[in-house]
Amino acid sequence: MEAGDRVPADARILETVSLEVDESALTGESVPVTKSTENLPPSTALAERRNMVFQGTVVTRGRGVAVVVATGSATEMGGIADLISSEGNESTPLQQRLEHMGRVLLVVCLAISGFVGLAGFLRGEDPYNMLLTAVSLAVAAIPEGLPAVVTIVLALGVQKMLRKNAVIRRLPAVETLGCATVICSDKTGTLTRNEMTVRAIWSAGRDYQVEGEGLKRGGHITCQDQRVRVKDVPDPSGFCPLEATLLTATLCNNAQLEAKGDSWRVNGDPTEGALLVAAARGGVDINAVTRKWERVAEIPFESERRMMTVDCQAGTVRAVFSKGAPENLLQVCTAWLDEGGNIKYLSELEKKRILKVNETLAGKGMRVLATGFRIFNGQSGNPGELERDLVFTGLMGIIDPPREEVPRAVKTCQNAGIKVVMITGDHALTASAVARETGILSEGKSVVTGEDLESIDDDRLEQGVEGIPVYARVSPAHKLRIVRALKKRGHVVAMTGDGVNDAPALKAADIGVAMGISGTEVSKEASAMVLADDNFATIVSAVSEGRGIYENIRKFARYLLGCNAGEILVMLVATLAGLPLPLLPIHILLVNLVTDGLPAIALGVDPPDPDLMSRPPRNPKEGVFSRGLWKKIINRGTIIGLSTLVAFLESLNQTQDIERARSVALAVLSLAQLLYAFECRSEEKGPFEAGITRNRALLWAVGTSFAALVATLHLPILQVLLHTVPLSMSDWGLAVAAACIGPVWSGLARFIRSDAARAVRPDQRD
Ligand code: ATP
Repeated sequence: MEAGDRVPADARILETVSLEVDESALTGESVPVTKSTENLPPSTALAERRNMVFQGTVVTRGRGVAVVVATGSATEMGGIADLISSEGNESTPLQQRLEHMGRVLLVVCLAISGFVGLAGFLRGEDPYNMLLTAVSLAVAAIPEGLPAVVTIVLALGVQKMLRKNAVIRRLPAVETLGCATVICSDKTGTLTRNEMTVRAIWSAGRDYQVEGEGLKRGGHITCQDQRVRVKDVPDPSGFCPLEATLLTATLCNNAQLEAKGDSWRVNGDPTEGALLVAAARGGVDINAVTRKWERVAEIPFESERRMMTVDCQAGTVRAVFSKGAPENLLQVCTAWLDEGGNIKYLSELEKKRILKVNETLAGKGMRVLATGFRIFNGQSGNPGELERDLVFTGLMGIIDPPREEVPRAVKTCQNAGIKVVMITGDHALTASAVARETGILSEGKSVVTGEDLESIDDDRLEQGVEGIPVYARVSPAHKLRIVRALKKRGHVVAMTGDGVNDAPALKAADIGVAMGISGTEVSKEASAMVLADDNFATIVSAVSEGRGIYENIRKFARYLLGCNAGEILVMLVATLAGLPLPLLPIHILLVNLVTDGLPAIALGVDPPDPDLMSRPPRNPKEGVFSRGLWKKIINRGTIIGLSTLVAFLESLNQTQDIERARSVALAVLSLAQLLYAFECRSEEKGPFEAGITRNRALLWAVGTSFAALVATLHLPILQVLLHTVPLSMSDWGLAVAAACIGPVWSGLARFIRSDAARAVRPDQRD
């Protein structure tokens, strides 16, 4: 177990290194409990069992090893599982809004249906027929399919995101992703590959190069083109600076190297793995060194302290080895090791020289770690006393190249009006080198450090937060302040995090994004989305997916409601005008089933518009029907309704055959709706411009619905059942002409609009 893990079973502790566990879920104790390996009597109360860890509790600090004694329902937590409230199914704000709108429409539709039924009855129509008409009209008009299709579309969207490595933990995130205006990203592993390789070592004034490719075995260390090799089991009292540096890197390390073919595999932190590889390349026999030195105590690495220290013993020699961020390590160093192996007083001037070298390495985008040690005899005393009077030995510069796809993903964000902010614990120069390479930091913008943040209050941060693209040397607490400041400025923030201490910031963000590979359990639990590949580009594709899903919901809502409005209008106007009913109840149900359903679902899985990520994010407060969608729905509903009615009357007038006129009306209504489906694919572009064939599912849905319409009208068995007659060529001509009124009308409107726009902006003329 290590900090950030959720304990998976009840277990007896065998080994601890500053192990602290938050047991509040089990015991209600709000302060983390320090664990130990001591023996305790069996009667010890649950909260006092310091030699045990319990399922469901969280490791907040340190490391430990324990042997499992109970799993599942046999654990302490399992025993009280029923008492623990589980999170209910969350419905998204969009679903809630649509449900509310559905209820309003339900009342309106029921009123209209009741009115149509009553009016017909008063006019002397057959009461049974009018009852059926009213009921089928209600069935047709009420958009009962809307919540179902929304749920299907959200579920399919979540699956699609999963295939792209974005695991959605909370459904509302799908929607919120589409409104994200800022993505705050960690650097290491998210923007960079997390393939750490030590390239440079600086020790006692000498520059060393570490040759070798990534985790490939082999490679060596050179100094002025001369190969350098240290003893395979270095001795700190030998006082060779490079040896002391590599020995510290090996001992103050919790990673392990596993030989796999011609490469190494790192188990543990990639930074520490890189240090081991460098030590091996310098000639250190890692196994022999770790066998010789037994670890007595450890102060684990923490992002806040940026240091790690171990206390080790080899025979009679006892020593402390530390590594960490140079600024932090130098604060506890009082001496340095010169070229001749002499321990010298670390003056302020010498410190400045070391920090200058640190800056040079960081300026090349390297993560820099400093090493130091202290040999002493006897007891180390208080662990808090370990990190003092250290002898500085060297700096190690680690490269971690940006992921190839990141600069493009950053550009996509910029085009999509999304700000990308880098937040890292690394040095400001390391951060700015990587930020420049990935396009996050442009000329004229500077990096803000954790120290700068400490010197300003929240109000000042809020005022300046818009202009800051990179934060360096920050701790998790700063992340929370940054999220809050951005949210106060009205931003919708996606924030990444991996450590246990990142959880508050992940929770505070609109979309907390945890790392699937390197993230702790706690960070995953606090987040709304987990990246299975830790990759920044995955966030961007999830944002694009989120935008696409929202647009698709608008598309099919527009389609369903437009169609329903048309159906209601036909029946309402006919009833008000005292005309015979243009459609029988069975026709209404048929239209509802055949033309509404399939194309609506196909619109729900419409491929995203290529321009989707060239538009600014939508306002999270905007309604589903904003940006003129209601107007579009009512306009088209009116056109569909009126053109159906006109064709019905025309046919009735010509043939005096009510069954034929109804069949024509059925054909017009169905065809107009099927044509409308193609128009609903885009709100700005016409159906041809948006690509008629881009949505294969829609082609199939429209084809199937059309075949069903033809069968309804021309199959004798269906004619009997559905009271239809086969249409003649002139009937079909009338139906097609009436169905095309809508598309022709909007085509003309688009043409006039674009012509007007060109007239206003002559510079844009081809
Ligand atoms: P990012 O946000 O880019 O992922 P981070 O915030 O996780 O970075 P940390 O891992 O906290 O960054 O590292 C901050 C600094 O601490 C590094 O620049 C390095 O100098 C030092 N450091 C990192 N890992 C270790 C380690 N295992 N032991 C000692 N020091 C470390």
